[in-house]
Amino acid sequence: MSLGFRLWQNLLPTMNRSLAPSKAQCLRRCGAANIARTRLHTIAAAAAPVAGERRAKANIDWDSLGFGLKDVAATMYVAEWTPEKGWDSGKLVPYGPLNMMPSAQVLNYGQAIFEGMKAQESAKGRVVLFRPDQNAARFKAGAARMSMPSVPEDQFVEAVRATVENNLDYVPPMGKGSLYLRPLLMGTGPILGLGPAPAYTFAIFAAAVGAYFKGGQLTPIDLIVEERFHRAAPGGMGGTKAAGNYSPVLVTQLEAKKNGFADVVYLDAKTDTYLEEVSSCNIFVVKGKTIKTPPLSGTILPGVTRRSIIELARSRGYDVQEAAVSVHEAMEADEIFTTGTAVVVSSVGSMTYRGNKKAYTAPGQAGPVALEMYSALTDIQTEKADDKFSWVYPVK
Ligand SMILES: *Cc1c(COP(=O)(O)O)cnc(C)c1O
Repeated sequence: MSLGFRLWQNLLPTMNRSLAPSKAQCLRRCGAANIARTRLHTIAAAAAPVAGERRAKANIDWDSLGFGLKDVAATMYVAEWTPEKGWDSGKLVPYGPLNMMPSAQVLNYGQAIFEGMKAQESAKGRVVLFRPDQNAARFKAGAARMSMPSVPEDQFVEAVRATVENNLDYVPPMGKGSLYLRPLLMGTGPILGLGPAPAYTFAIFAAAVGAYFKGGQLTPIDLIVEERFHRAAPGGMGGTKAAGNYSPVLVTQLEAKKNGFADVVYLDAKTDTYLEEVSSCNIFVVKGKTIKTPPLSGTILPGVTRRSIIELARSRGYDVQEAAVSVHEAMEADEIFTTGTAVVVSSVGSMTYRGNKKAYTAPGQAGPVALEMYSALTDIQTEKADDKFSWVYPVK
């Protein structure tokens, strides 16, 4: 059974399955490609974009949003790739299971990458994305690294846009959080011997999530430098948002949490000397008016927030260097912060290395540069400040 047909069936969740049309009927009536194109438009047009009205459908308590799947958006985007046809145009279908065989490449050999993005309500009363072109480019590079067919960048951006537009009633009111978007690309076709999948799925699901820091208040986090495990090695795939990069960090992260730390800082695999990054965030080290962040050498994830903070800090008069930072240098720094789409900017309260704890901030108090960067970036993201870099992308 083709994925397209199964999704067509999923569009009829209330219909008794035995009443659903057969595959032959379905193909005869509409033709798979046509269904895809019409669905995307039909469902998109059905969304209620009118302010005030648009939140009526989703019955969500906006004041108690966390970072989880409690308020998953009603629809998801799914596109399929085959060697004969390449990518189909994709469609929006009810959020639900993806069908695949136990022999799916992704379940056996892990051909999978993902992205993390946010749509937010802005001060101009519209819903906006932040630099989706950057995620599209990274998704493309990641696909190449994992020998998967890349999604054309315009299709990626349009798919993200349509997913948000179709789920506008899940976008929290300004300041309460965001609609977190999770694009996935995976080898869903079956295979036994090691090789690339014969078919691929590009999917995007979304969920309403809370602001990491309520009211813009940054709570500093305590980090510990990890010395036994490395996150990535030269020549590996650390620079790719590949699913396989993340479960191996759980063993260190969970132990760190047990010991009262928020997360771990990884060192370079070659010399155990230089900072790389945190499990899912990039890291910045401040000394006076100089801000350093480890250079992208293939082992570090090229964060969109990282890049934006570099540009933003330079425009605010900081000397920003993409340069190796030794753990000893970091222990002498004035301030450290981490960056990522989910946290935006997170102030580091302390870092512990070989039993020595260096405190950077007063307890509960975020560092001044972290605060400055957090405000400057979120003001642009929510259109409270001028978008002088043209980073904001309106959904409609
Ligand atoms: C996603 C991610 C980041 C942050 O990237 P953004 O594009 O800023 O969200 C940093 N490090 C790792 C390991 C990541 O997976």
